[in-house]
Amino acid sequence: MEVCGTHTVAIARNGLRDVMPPSITLLSGPGCPVCVTANRDIDTAVEYARRPGTIVTTFGDMMKVPGSSSSLAREKADGHDVRIVYSPLDALDIAEKNPDSQVVFIGVGFETTVPVIGSTIKQAAARGLENFSVFSAHKTVPAALEALAANRQRDALTAFPAAFQRSWLHEELHKTRNFKPYMKHGLWMGSLLFGIDQKLFGGKTPWTLHNTADHDKLKPATECAKIDYPKPDGKLTFDRLSSVFLSNTNHEEEQPCHLRLKDASVPIAVNLALYDAPEQRYCPAGVYEIVHDGEAGAPRLQINAQNCVHCKTCDIKDPTQNINWVVPQGGEG
Ligand code: SF4
Repeated sequence: MEVCGTHTVAIARNGLRDVMPPSITLLSGPGCPVCVTANRDIDTAVEYARRPGTIVTTFGDMMKVPGSSSSLAREKADGHDVRIVYSPLDALDIAEKNPDSQVVFIGVGFETTVPVIGSTIKQAAARGLENFSVFSAHKTVPAALEALAANRQRDALTAFPAAFQRSWLHEELHKTRNFKPYMKHGLWMGSLLFGIDQKLFGGKTPWTLHNTADHDKLKPATECAKIDYPKPDGKLTFDRLSSVFLSNTNHEEEQPCHLRLKDASVPIAVNLALYDAPEQRYCPAGVYEIVHDGEAGAPRLQINAQNCVHCKTCDIKDPTQNINWVVPQGGEG
């Protein structure tokens, strides 16, 4: 199995497949570090390059790799400080000579390149360099190779729930699971009950209290007064689409919609009729819009899925649980 796309091209161009003995099967692997570096990682590197007082250091092959709107080469041409290095250790020298700048090394590659980066970080610590950091976009190969060799695809993360149950995060969250229900009783009583829970029982109470599901709490629009929020001032507060732009969220426009409706009639027949289409207001990214085709056209829900910032609010808050958020294509977002 060849890993790098250049190898694949060389094998094809020179007709090597035809001269291989039948006992050898050539498989194309996951791609070289350049091929497998995701758009969003390049976008992040570009963002670092644009930060004032930042020097981005990288291997030369990453310079021309395009992100969603720019590349490191273009940023360099625009006057930002992007420097090619031949070893991560060169980046340490740059950091030493530029103590007033933050030096970021763009770390790409597989297990083979990680030890060099690791030893560079150790060197940076030994040399007392506090202005050096690594943006790690490393990939791990064995799992991808095993999947390719076994012709597996679309694997589900079945081991995740059990791994989460065993993790420190689950333990930490489990200890504080009753916080919200206690606080329903007000600040003083809630604090007292939660204090007993934590101090007396150490978070290991034999009971688990429950809240009402958020979507069950939504009231019909006729029972609520309209809130007139102040308009964004463009200095401290911004409109939603400007904020989405700043979040650097990026999706391919043509990918399948990851916000699925169980019943396409519900947004108008229930949500708009009863709740004045709350998805237009609770979604922080303005993904949901009620639009009319022409002045007299019937209303319909338009889903601008490419703007989604994946907060999952719609999946939780939709009053009839009609919206199903699924992971976007290629883990984007
Ligand atoms: S997950 Fe839902 S609510 Fe959150 S940004 Fe995406 S569409 Fe909007």
